[in-house]
Amino acid sequence: MDQRLVLFAKTILTMDRPRPIEDGFVLIQGSRILRVGKRQDLYLTPSLRMLDLGDTILMPGLINAHCHLDFTNFKGKVKYQGGFREWLRQMAMKGREMTPADFKNSVRQGIEESLAYGTTTLCDVATSWESYPLLRRSPLRSFVFFELIDMAQPSTALYWKSFQDRLKHLVHSEPPTETCQWGLSPHTPFTVSKDMLQSVKRYLNDHRHLLTTIHVAESGEETWFFKKGAGPIAERLKVLNPDWAIPRGTTPVQYLSQNGWMPKLDIGVHLNEVNGNDLKILAKNRTVVVHCPGSHRYFGHKRFQYEKFKKQGITVCLGTDSLASNQSLSMFREMRLFQESYPQISAQEVLSLATVKPARALDGSHHLGQIKPGYLADLIGIPAPRTTNSKRTVYDHVVNYRKPVSFSMVHGQPKFRLASSKKK
Ligand SMILES: [Zn+2]
Repeated sequence: MDQRLVLFAKTILTMDRPRPIEDGFVLIQGSRILRVGKRQDLYLTPSLRMLDLGDTILMPGLINAHCHLDFTNFKGKVKYQGGFREWLRQMAMKGREMTPADFKNSVRQGIEESLAYGTTTLCDVATSWESYPLLRRSPLRSFVFFELIDMAQPSTALYWKSFQDRLKHLVHSEPPTETCQWGLSPHTPFTVSKDMLQSVKRYLNDHRHLLTTIHVAESGEETWFFKKGAGPIAERLKVLNPDWAIPRGTTPVQYLSQNGWMPKLDIGVHLNEVNGNDLKILAKNRTVVVHCPGSHRYFGHKRFQYEKFKKQGITVCLGTDSLASNQSLSMFREMRLFQESYPQISAQEVLSLATVKPARALDGSHHLGQIKPGYLADLIGIPAPRTTNSKRTVYDHVVNYRKPVSFSMVHGQPKFRLASSKKK
């Protein structure tokens, strides 16, 4: 039987109860939380290991619902000059210059930065596939989505066959673990062909437990392509793949729906350009939407319609995207940027976008993102404020926190960190 550990902290934000617990405890056995409450209500037994975190705010570990660790070392290296398709082309060119060792270094840097800034669960879209073995051995909990793009492939059938062979080999030699699962990510509805979408859909019918994610409705160029079958995306596709079926009179969401993909899509990323009908489709299919505030700002996309998603009951969560279009992998920074755009949204709700909400997409049995009995012991701690300000809640303090975390735990395994002065 696993030994039990009790953590004490000045303040505990459970994200389950409406109010913080002052002078509280969390009792953990193995990878799970057994109990949470006030210190005075804990009956101590001699076999209990104890860790007093002192003046710490203890909360659920943060969940980064979308990133690409492959591109951590692309920070500041791919310039965006107003054309989204052109930016994607430059990313692909830069990617071709990378060696497997470069990708490994990039992934390692990303893992380190994510852990330092409080991420305990990370959804990674794997282009090079180097992240899967590294994340599998890392202290992070991860969901690795192997990416599919066939826009420049001479044969979709051959590409899909070699993708499956490679996948089979990889997951046979490195099977998923309790903290590392894998899924599939068709890149976008305009870089993946209709045939490819159908093949992946059939594969998913036989592998129903697999999670999926797709970048959808990110840019104005994508909207134009699906509406008119024209613009920079259409021009590029005609050069790369003259037989490509160019859509017209639709939207990216409706196109996926027409191809039977919406019931298969767990996590839709971006959704910056949606109309009323798209929102209804997303709500009906219970698609979880990831908004990436840093990346959104970098590209200067249309305002993300958070209020409309919320009104339709669509779950929204946050992600960093890659450092090719962002400055940091800190989810605290994403929360802060989100709050700058939506100052009327409470800091408690903002924190839910990096804890409770993404857990809905990732964990069917709801065992992530909250501190409550039966949940996984994925926790982080940050220093409590020295002075209290009646206008600022503890949630405001969290959302505006800029340093590395002082404590983290994934799957019941504690990690300690020295707070440095490096701010993000
Ligand atoms: Zn992305």
